[in-house]
Amino acid sequence: MSTTSLTAVPFNRTHVCDNEVGYLTEAVRGGFTCGDGPFTRRATALLRELTGAGHALLTTSCTHALEMSAILLGLRPGDEVIMPSFTFVSTANAYALRGAVPVFADCRPDTLNIDERLIEAAVTDRTRAVVVVHYAGVACEMEAVAAVAGRYGLAVIEDNAHGLGGSYRGRPLGSFGVMAAQSFHATKNVQCGEGGALLLNDAALATRAEIVREKGTDRSRFYRGQVAKYQWVDIGSSYLPSDVLAAMLTAQLESFDRIQARRHVVWRAYHEGLSEWAADNGVAQPVVPEDRRHPAHLYHLLLPDLRNRQAFIAHLAEAGVQAVFHYQPLHNAPAGLRYGRPAPGGCPVTEDVADRLVRLPLYAGLDDADVTRVMEAVRSYRVLP
Ligand SMILES: *Cc1c(COP(=O)(O)O)cnc(C)c1O
Repeated sequence: MSTTSLTAVPFNRTHVCDNEVGYLTEAVRGGFTCGDGPFTRRATALLRELTGAGHALLTTSCTHALEMSAILLGLRPGDEVIMPSFTFVSTANAYALRGAVPVFADCRPDTLNIDERLIEAAVTDRTRAVVVVHYAGVACEMEAVAAVAGRYGLAVIEDNAHGLGGSYRGRPLGSFGVMAAQSFHATKNVQCGEGGALLLNDAALATRAEIVREKGTDRSRFYRGQVAKYQWVDIGSSYLPSDVLAAMLTAQLESFDRIQARRHVVWRAYHEGLSEWAADNGVAQPVVPEDRRHPAHLYHLLLPDLRNRQAFIAHLAEAGVQAVFHYQPLHNAPAGLRYGRPAPGGCPVTEDVADRLVRLPLYAGLDDADVTRVMEAVRSYRVLP
């Protein structure tokens, strides 16, 4: 890209925490580089503390944690899973891989989360689960989601890739679903390059999850001396990350409060500093209902239309600020058309917001001068009529 060399404020920059390089050295020198070593235990304990999850397993990605959830639900070809269209491909792909049909519901125009009022009309006698994605870490309407899931006996899964540290009515995100998937990809608040976790709020599933994650074997029980030899006992795959990555993740999770404090400072600076400009230009800022706390995962703006969104991104690039759009709707993507279908009523809100949304740079390493530069670049844009 021709703008890269001129980019003073990139969209994302990974943040190196205290202890990170030290722990990496320790993991490499210690010689335990495969999965489920000492750093995996430390990172898992920290993650459980943060989320209150009964059980947690580190995985190679959030994508893989979602794939594990599809296996653990015992989904069969033709089963249906209701999910938002406005999400990352992995949310749908994980279930399509099991032959299940993603049924794409539209999003709410305020939080951009799945519109809980549309779930019931999407339920059929093949529906097995509802997957919610807490967009930007702002919780979905979990009370309404739980009510409709309860009425039809559906499992609720949280794709909590954005939501680590967020809460709904005082309860941490990741604790609402029977399972929740976390991401530690380089673009997330806490990262180890590529990584994830599956949180399990059901003890019976947790036992099986350990097997699915270890190639369908009971190797974890063997390591604990609970069985004399390990064997192939179920389907599964290799979903456990190297302890070297867990070392990086341990350092990141230990720095969680500091990372979050800085991200919140940046988020609030944008929210307050851009409110007048947004109101004057017909631009919508993020909506966070009173009963939930978000983890400052991303800061997005909704421009009035696609033409303005593109002009706005180009305007910021010229000022050395890299801003980016986000999810393209899944219901009308090539694979979405092949493997899924839209819920009744289609996804008009998703199609509209996907064209208008822009994300501003937001990471712990953004200093005050960077934030000022971003805001000045934003405020110097005038919406085209
Ligand atoms: C990042 C992300 C994922 C995928 O995470 P990986 O760890 O890269 O597999 C899945 N769902 C959502 C909503 C995400 O933002």
